Amino acid sequence: MDKKTITLIGAGLAGPLMATYLAQQGFTVEIFERRNDMRKVKLSSGRSINLALSIRGIHALKEVGLYEKIAPITIPMKGRMIHDMDGKTNLQPYGQRDAEVIYSVSRAQLNKELMTFAERTGNVRIHFNHELSSVDLDMNTLSFMQKNNDKIIQKDFTCVMGCDGSASVLRDEIVNKTKAMYKEKPLGHGYKELQILPSKDGRFQLDNHALHIWPRGQFMLIALPNMDKTFTCTLFLPMTGEVSFDSIDTVEKVIELFQFHFSDVLDFMPTLSTDFLSNPTGDLASIYCDPWHYKDKAALIGDAAHAVVPFFGQGMNASFQDCTVMNNLIGDFRGYWGDIFSNYSELHVKNGHAIADMAIENYIEMRDHVNDPNYQKRRKLELELEKRFPDKFIPRYSMVSFHQIPYNDIYIRGEKQFALIDKLLEIDSTGESIDEMLVKNYFHEELA
Ligand SMILES: Cc1cc2nc3c(=O)[nH]c(=O)nc-3n(C[C@H](O)[C@H](O)[C@H](O)COP(=O)(O)OP(=O)(O)OC[C@H]3O[C@@H](n4cnc5c(N)ncnc54)[C@H](O)[C@@H]3O)c2cc1C
Repeated sequence: MDKKTITLIGAGLAGPLMATYLAQQGFTVEIFERRNDMRKVKLSSGRSINLALSIRGIHALKEVGLYEKIAPITIPMKGRMIHDMDGKTNLQPYGQRDAEVIYSVSRAQLNKELMTFAERTGNVRIHFNHELSSVDLDMNTLSFMQKNNDKIIQKDFTCVMGCDGSASVLRDEIVNKTKAMYKEKPLGHGYKELQILPSKDGRFQLDNHALHIWPRGQFMLIALPNMDKTFTCTLFLPMTGEVSFDSIDTVEKVIELFQFHFSDVLDFMPTLSTDFLSNPTGDLASIYCDPWHYKDKAALIGDAAHAVVPFFGQGMNASFQDCTVMNNLIGDFRGYWGDIFSNYSELHVKNGHAIADMAIENYIEMRDHVNDPNYQKRRKLELELEKRFPDKFIPRYSMVSFHQIPYNDIYIRGEKQFALIDKLLEIDSTGESIDEMLVKNYFHEELA
């Protein structure tokens, strides 16, 4: 196999995007995907049906030329709509400028468009029903189980990229081979997808320009709008304990949970108990791995490199950004795959780890803090600081969702900004006044 042919594992979200970038640089790409072709066969999905797309994902889609096709199937969400226990709602905007919104998009539709777009380059071939079962990095061979006839076949490769998601087989082999740092951090909480249906006259039952959150301390419900006027709800609960996926196991308990905690949407969810009892419960974990490559032969992209919990809405966005970073390095080090891959790990692993950490922190913020007066005071201060010092202070959420600052820099900067807010609140605990001198000195010393 020549150096111009790259093998990718996985045609989920990152695989076809990476393939398109490669094809546009003149490579031939062979993708092996374990599933059937979802454009031809309806696949059952227990995974999230819609996703929040933001700047990093949009940038990558624009770069390859697909965004024009995706934009019309997205719904802008301008903030978090918080639902209290008594059914009262309040909108907490994500940003302060009109463009500072995130977009709900159908996972399946996006995936189909990505695959078709990749194939249309003429340089990408997707082999469905091929599940990678083992990898030999010394002999440059991949073994696949062909799912339609249960046969194992072997393929040679010169360069392989694992876009095979959070349970990546290629990652296991890289970790074995390099004794790479590898850590899986289970969240202890899982998720289940449910549905809010349209009204009888075919309208959205909730404001469709918001991401809805029912924060309930140890757990929460969220809902994102779909183009067909439904909302996909995701219930996040502990796996075990008093209120958990273990304990809520009958129709009565499901209804009781919703009557008590989410009463304002119960009427909009006529399929609730069937969905709850029949839809799978997903596990959530963060994966940390370093490095993300093996010599000049193999590298990891997307969840395979850094599965993160979904509370910053960044898993796909980060995965798309991996493709952008890899594409730039391929351009910089043309043909020198050892340099491309080692620079990729060196530059970017820390960003994967940072977004994994921030996503865990955001779960606690979403399920527990958003309704807390102290959180609201801090958030108000953040927005005020951004207004007064726009080139110096950017709230962490905005840095992640509306800017392309590397995640690791955001983490470091965010910690310093949090410390500044602590200082301001020490001086005025109401958060109403801002000591501008202190802020300017702080910028000079800490955030220059
Ligand atoms: C509940 C939930 C909500 C989420 N919400 C958001 C959000 O709002 N915004 C956001 O940015 N991200 C979100 N994410 C994260 C996002 O789904 C992932 O980060 C994204 O799908 C990663 O893309 P990927 O291509 O790396 O992996 P995947 O999309 O998982 O694709 C992996 C592909 O590899 C294939 N595959 C796996 N193993 C093999 C094998 N052995 N051989 C061949 N093929 C294989 C799979 O079939 C699949 O097609 C969410 C995740 C969850 C669980």
